[in-house]
Amino acid sequence: MGSSLPSRPIYLDHHATTPTDPRVLEVMLPYFTHAFGNAASSSHVYGWEAEAAVTQARETLAAAINCSPEEIIFTSGATEANNLAIKGVAEAYLSKGRHLISVTTEHNAVLDPVHYLQGLGFEVTLLGVDSQGLIDLRALEQAIRPDTVLISVMAANNEIGVLQPLTQIGALAKQHNVLFHTDAAQAVGKIPLDVQAQNIDLMSLTAHKVYGPKGIGALYVRRRDPRVKLAPQMHGGGHERGLRSGTLFVPQIAGLGKAVELAMLELESEAARLTSLREQLWQQLQVLDDLKLNGHPGQRLPGNLNVCFGGVDGEALLIGLRQVVALSSGSACTSAEVAPSHVLKALGRTDQEAHAALRFGLGRFNTTEEVDQVAVAVVDTVQKLRKMAMTWR
Ligand SMILES: *Cc1c(COP(=O)(O)O)cnc(C)c1O
Repeated sequence: MGSSLPSRPIYLDHHATTPTDPRVLEVMLPYFTHAFGNAASSSHVYGWEAEAAVTQARETLAAAINCSPEEIIFTSGATEANNLAIKGVAEAYLSKGRHLISVTTEHNAVLDPVHYLQGLGFEVTLLGVDSQGLIDLRALEQAIRPDTVLISVMAANNEIGVLQPLTQIGALAKQHNVLFHTDAAQAVGKIPLDVQAQNIDLMSLTAHKVYGPKGIGALYVRRRDPRVKLAPQMHGGGHERGLRSGTLFVPQIAGLGKAVELAMLELESEAARLTSLREQLWQQLQVLDDLKLNGHPGQRLPGNLNVCFGGVDGEALLIGLRQVVALSSGSACTSAEVAPSHVLKALGRTDQEAHAALRFGLGRFNTTEEVDQVAVAVVDTVQKLRKMAMTWR
């Protein structure tokens, strides 16, 4: 990909977004032009073609997470899916209670809706994590109250790649009769997921983290044992069983389906390949001292490596590396401000440590040669920056 443009840096920012796989794009294209129909038009072939593409994508997604196709609601992405799940449940279960449980290391697309509800008078328990990024299941159980309506815990963290124990969380939620939502934006197609075996009631996903297009995602909403009630957040033509109105974006939906299909086919081999690339990178960085791995060493996404480089400024490091590699630091540029990552802070890292972190996100089109090049450049740049700091002192 892009090898004809030698000046392009190596892309290692796959937690931010992924390129659309050419095989996915190919499936999408006819739905922009030839088969452009509205999936809701039931009186002619244009509508039927569009409807068939949507049905196929729905079936692919359902098979990937072990639900039924009617339990898939298409949205514009994981942000919208999270908003629909969290606000939709909160509004629909007012008679049960107003208490929600989530985690400090969640993506802002979960934290912000939760804080919004808090502003409306809901009570929120945000669980902390241990130094490796995992929640404490006993603390979760203790947080559950008779008026708790939802537990929202992400499947895989977008910064440190940590995989939360979904199966155990699902079991606890079921035992206490509380709904369980998971933001699986980083997890779908990367690790096996099974909403039945794991007792998951709602799951958010998005195409652009799994080699599909941006602007499309889905929310899985359980229909049996229990049947989850959801208040729609978008009102209009009654699409998606009334839960998400708006004309379906058929090319994007076809792309989402194809992206998930490919990721599921290649899940095991790709996980093994990315794990070995990650181990290669981590090994090659060991010539540097004062490194700290952020997140759990084993219980993490195959393609994720997040490291604090002691005594180095992450922004300076990124600038020093940007000709060679495109990646992210441990700082979040939320608005104009550069703040230390709330995830790294939750692990107990200091502001300084968080600012000295890099997130390496390996993906489908990365090679061992690229990892070699990146490792050499990182080692070189860190050593230069450390030497400069010494000289100034
Ligand atoms: C990317 C991401 C989101 C947002 O998804 P969009 O489809 O871009 O709205 C939400 N949660 C996590 C964990 C993510 O990584």
